[in-house]
Amino acid sequence: MTGEVAIIGCGPSGCYTALALRRLAPEVKITVFDGRLTPYGLVRYGVASDHQGTKGVSRQFDRLFDSDGVEFVGNTVIGRDISLKTLEQAFDVVVIATGLSEDRPLQVPIDPEARVYGAGQLLRFLNGDPDSHVRSLAGSHGPLGTDLLLVGAGNVAMDVARLLCKTEEAFAGSDIDDEAWLSLATPDLRRLTLLARGPRERACWDASMFTELCRLPGVVITVDGEVEERSLSGGAEVGASPVRDVIHVDIHFNESPAAIEYAGGRTLVRARRTRATSGSEDSGKPGEWAGAGEEAYVVDTVVTAMGFVRPTVEQNPVAHADPERQVWVGGAHSGALGNLAENRTLAKIAAEEVADRLKRSSGRPGLEGIRDLLPPDAVSFKDWEAIDRAEIARARSDRLRWKFTTREEMADVVESHRGATAPSPTT
Ligand SMILES: Cc1cc2nc3c(=O)[nH]c(=O)nc-3n(C[C@H](O)[C@H](O)[C@H](O)COP(=O)(O)OP(=O)(O)OC[C@H]3O[C@@H](n4cnc5c(N)ncnc54)[C@H](O)[C@@H]3O)c2cc1C
Repeated sequence: MTGEVAIIGCGPSGCYTALALRRLAPEVKITVFDGRLTPYGLVRYGVASDHQGTKGVSRQFDRLFDSDGVEFVGNTVIGRDISLKTLEQAFDVVVIATGLSEDRPLQVPIDPEARVYGAGQLLRFLNGDPDSHVRSLAGSHGPLGTDLLLVGAGNVAMDVARLLCKTEEAFAGSDIDDEAWLSLATPDLRRLTLLARGPRERACWDASMFTELCRLPGVVITVDGEVEERSLSGGAEVGASPVRDVIHVDIHFNESPAAIEYAGGRTLVRARRTRATSGSEDSGKPGEWAGAGEEAYVVDTVVTAMGFVRPTVEQNPVAHADPERQVWVGGAHSGALGNLAENRTLAKIAAEEVADRLKRSSGRPGLEGIRDLLPPDAVSFKDWEAIDRAEIARARSDRLRWKFTTREEMADVVESHRGATAPSPTT
């Protein structure tokens, strides 16, 4: 089978689809477009910097781009730099693997002065993402403060809690953006209150993620007012020469913010003390509520970790295209970001759908047909490899890499790499 396939989005969903398609139809040519200069989406900019085992999936994807017939075209936003229609005319099949880029917002009254971050944006900031909203916000707002309130009961909430409770040495071997981490001044953090809307048995985090938090030195965890024993066995030795000042992580199940106010430089979170009787913790649906009461928390910063949603049509028109015309995969298709294992399962199904469509359509020119239309600063996989090498080379000895946090810095590396590899006019 032959044909030309365009995949929009070089995150795990796009890469797994390309890998599965290579197995089904090795002769098919695949072009993977991404708006970023760098491949791998949230593997690079979402997955926590201290979870390098998970980030290691990128090595599998690297091999994809080593093979003939697979190209990466970065720094090219489909719907802005090139229209979706142009891709549809040039390729036999177009796959939409654009993920879910926006944090699900908290649907309660929020004073605009209050410091409220989405967990996805905060973790992107700590991952060195040039496009993280927190990058611009953090400058004007300063550090996170001593008291933080986290909303959510999934693995991303655990990532936030763990990263904010870790000491600097604990990031050895990671690729955390040290400047971002320092700007948040997390060593000042004394209390992290986590509100989970449902009961404990409905928390969506993996037990291993909770255990990892419990085992951090200097962290004391209470759950609904009771000290969690696991935290004391593996974590802080309260009263016995602690490694540093203790951070209290207070988890409250069956509580949900009702309003966020701001006064005198601090944030007041009014929370409903409730008991959910139906609905799921991450669904964003309220379910039925019983036994309501009120709690109030005075904090410096609120972080919401309530899942992810599709961007608006203005933010990303491709995410609102006609779902019948293209093959859709990952969060762009299912409405839930999922995890790598889920992305891979859905990608196999998408690849079968692509192979099926290729039986009915082939003969389009593919990338060669639109090469002249690519933006002049579009980047190739070789260009990305130059960025990759430069980031690794400039990292301090206890870090894996030091990411460039502006598109300009990356573009400079690409330009000098191209200058160095261009054939000399005299040869
Ligand atoms: C904070 C956080 C921690 C996580 N930790 C884990 C973990 O430990 N383990 C795990 O298994 N999973 C984890 N996940 C989930 C995992 O990151 C996702 O399952 C995965 O990244 C989804 O892949 P995707 O390709 O669908 O989307 P993404 O990774 O978001 O990739 C989508 C890509 O599409 C590109 N794109 C979007 N629109 C356009 C356009 N118009 N033109 C061109 N390109 C476009 C984007 O730039 C992006 O690169 C985590 C997620 C987050 C947010």
